[in-house]
Amino acid sequence: PLVLGIESSCDETGVGIVRGTEMLANAVASSVDLHVRFGGVVPEVASRAHLEAMVPTLEQAYAQAGVRVEDVDAIAVTCGPGLTGALLVGVAAAKALAIAHDKPLYGVNHLVGHVAVDQLEHGRLDERVGALLVSGGHTEILLVDDIATDVTMLGTTIDDAAGEAFDKVARLLGLPYPGGPHIDREAQRGSTTAIPFPRALTKDRDLQRHRYDFSFSGLKSAVARHVQHEQRMGREVAVADVAASFQDAVCDVLSAKAIEACRANDVDTLVVGGGVAANGRLRALVEERASAAGLTVRVPRPGLCTDNGAMIAALGAEVVRRGLPPSSLDLPADSSMPVTQIVAA
Ligand code: ATP
Ligand code: MG
Ligand code: FE
Repeated sequence: PLVLGIESSCDETGVGIVRGTEMLANAVASSVDLHVRFGGVVPEVASRAHLEAMVPTLEQAYAQAGVRVEDVDAIAVTCGPGLTGALLVGVAAAKALAIAHDKPLYGVNHLVGHVAVDQLEHGRLDERVGALLVSGGHTEILLVDDIATDVTMLGTTIDDAAGEAFDKVARLLGLPYPGGPHIDREAQRGSTTAIPFPRALTKDRDLQRHRYDFSFSGLKSAVARHVQHEQRMGREVAVADVAASFQDAVCDVLSAKAIEACRANDVDTLVVGGGVAANGRLRALVEERASAAGLTVRVPRPGLCTDNGAMIAALGAEVVRRGLPPSSLDLPADSSMPVTQIVAA
């Protein structure tokens, strides 16, 4: 099916067009520059930026694909999770297009989109796979029996998301927002073993209750204490070493638990998705450990890991292919849509 996908859950306005697993267009406008001086996304600013960017981004996608909205089989839109005001802009645009052109509308889950996008690079996900979803607001290990109908959550973070930890630690180190790419770059010049940062929820007593769960707030505090200590001693903070050691602590736990979850659930493919999947150290560590464990790893190229419309179109195409019923034209935005709910009623 030919599907148009609209994304507006955070600070990227994205419109993608796919035919099955083939990507025809992926237009993205980001308002990140407007948020930099606040050190994080300001919801009202993001909503207004979506309003301004929506029509130009749609037009850019039509031009890239050489497709008109009249031609598509369906319209998919992120209806959650995310910032309510931001989500509403995409949902309203999608409803307007669906009504004006008499197309079925599908409200889909942003997080499942982060996994589905890999199909545009590596082909259909047709067997049961494990997934590590690591983004700005979420950190989850998933069992994906069917990308359009059956996703189970095996574990999640009990406090901060992985991307949030990157952003907070970057701030402590005086690096700009969003911090993930800056830490990734700084870490290349640093030592992963310079500072022994903690790996939370990896001890036997924690594993009983939290085998596939994560915790990153203690790690963030450990970095803060290290930075304060260095300052008190009158020493300059070794930014590259702190970045490398912090990044290694995060990626060590993420990769180890995701691979263990795959083995325990008898799946032999692991998909990694979400903004933090763009991280160089995470990609390398997952590859290395998965190959040692005999698992296949699928990670989309970095440009498809962060928010975009093609990921929503990719998931929409799978939903259409299954013949699932469209969502209601009264479709609400659901800021806390659970990852197990793939399509809205
Ligand atoms: P969610 O998907 O949970 O709603 P989001 O959409 O805001 O959150 P994404 O766009 O998927 O999140 O990812 C953004 C996050 O990814 C930010 O926290 C950012 O710092 C992080 N990130 C991006 N590139 C990298 C990188 N190379 N290394 C580490 N983190 C990165
Ligand atoms: Mg973003
Ligand atoms: Fe996202």
